[in-house]
Amino acid sequence: MHLKTLTVRGFKSFASATTFQFEPGVTAVVGPNGSGKSNVVDALAWVMGEQGAKTLRGGKMEDVIFAGTSGRPPLGRAQVSLTIDNTDGALPIEYTEVTISRTLFRSGGSEYAINGATCRLLDIQELLSDSGLGRQMHVIVGQGQLDAVLHATGEERRGFIEEAAGILKHRRRKEKTVRK
Ligand code: ATP
Ligand code: MG
Repeated sequence: MHLKTLTVRGFKSFASATTFQFEPGVTAVVGPNGSGKSNVVDALAWVMGEQGAKTLRGGKMEDVIFAGTSGRPPLGRAQVSLTIDNTDGALPIEYTEVTISRTLFRSGGSEYAINGATCRLLDIQELLSDSGLGRQMHVIVGQGQLDAVLHATGEERRGFIEEAAGILKHRRRKEKTVRK
């Protein structure tokens, strides 16, 4: 399984439809400061169902919609589609190629689709949940976080790994219970 293409349209700084093609292996996105590199990563997290505005570096959900520039008016919707190569069947669906998409309207509505068929957020979460993608499965190390990881003490490093593995929330719950 690997990511094939990511298409963004009206998402953050990408007003016009823009498609990124990925090959198997490591991908590097390069460009000047402010050119939208982190926005590409935000688009990946968003289409896989991310619900936290802060994680997406915004204040509210609609901040992902292209807000306009001096020469271009704001847009009414943001749309991101991600096509995943599924020839190895890692995703539990009978397609060798799977496209998930998410649309958010400035008026408030939101839509999800799998291979063009409208679905619920839950369907996307379930589709991705056993694959190492999706909610709490993939790990995105944000800008500036790398230094923190490299300079962390053993204890802190364990915290990062536990967070990534989804164990930390259980530990916090356990500590809360034990204290009571
Ligand atoms: P750096 O190298 O500094 O990390 P970057 O390439 O990661 O930069 P991003 O953070 O991806 O840059 O992009 C920042 C740009 O995206 C800013 O110019 C910001 O105005 C623009 N931007 C973010 N949200 C929106 C939006 N909703 N509408 C229009 N532009 C937006
Ligand atoms: Mg950045």
